[in-house]
Amino acid sequence: METSDEEGDSASLLSKAALIFAVLLPFAIYKPHHSFRAFSVAASPPPGRVIAPVAERKPPKMARKKKKLYITFDDGPNKGTRNVLHIVKDEGVPVSFFVVGEHVFASRTQGALWDSLKAMPQVALCNHSFCHAHGRYAAYYEKPDSVVSDFKRTRDSLQLTNPIARTPGRNIWRIDSLQFTDLKKSTAAADSLQKAGFVLMGWDMEWQFDPKTMSVTSPAESMVAQIDSVFKRGRTKKRDHLVLLAHDQVYQKSEDSFQLRQFFQLLKKKDDYEFTLVSQYPGTDRQRDTMSTGSVQ
Ligand SMILES: [Zn+2]
Repeated sequence: METSDEEGDSASLLSKAALIFAVLLPFAIYKPHHSFRAFSVAASPPPGRVIAPVAERKPPKMARKKKKLYITFDDGPNKGTRNVLHIVKDEGVPVSFFVVGEHVFASRTQGALWDSLKAMPQVALCNHSFCHAHGRYAAYYEKPDSVVSDFKRTRDSLQLTNPIARTPGRNIWRIDSLQFTDLKKSTAAADSLQKAGFVLMGWDMEWQFDPKTMSVTSPAESMVAQIDSVFKRGRTKKRDHLVLLAHDQVYQKSEDSFQLRQFFQLLKKKDDYEFTLVSQYPGTDRQRDTMSTGSVQ
């Protein structure tokens, strides 16, 4: 009996231990399981709601700043000006003409071309001297006072309303703090022009021509590629602003004027560029303000 009692006692102890184990076991298992579930719920979207991955979320759209192209034509009015005018009108692009005073008065046809230029809305008319140094540049720039008089003669006889000018045969810049002179012997004349209130604009790139045949030496596609490259390499006087020099008289023949039309059409297809008048070039307005106050004569 003792034995059985003992046995009875140990059996009772065993069953109590089993009961406690059975009661506590779920808690022992549940706790870690619960904490895992809480973490995983927070990381998942609720059912029915889709959250886009971070990489797919697009930033708000910003207006892209286009690079500015200033297309300029020198030495008109002359035999090429009529073609240039037609193309510019057809293509609806703003361009700037640097005219030679003497050419306006050289013939009735050229006078009529000047009137046509004045009547065009998307055109800026600028000063390219009166006599264009008659081709004798070194002697011309030796006399700063007569250079200033020559530019004033064009300004006054053509009643030009903006002070932007280009020196014949020289790539010279005097736009506010932007100062550059290609041939140093012209420095005094350039400084005198700026002092007299003229804003001098040179060029970043030229559409070159063969002076014997008066035809362009590069086709339109090549010029567009050059523009891309000049911008890419930062080879402009002002970042994202490119002044291109072209000459009216080069576009007399149909094959050359075709290239000019092609040039505009190719550039218009690109989304990177915007055609702009030279009067919009940074800094030209600051000097104009000085002129209008009368502090510069
Ligand atoms: Zn010229």
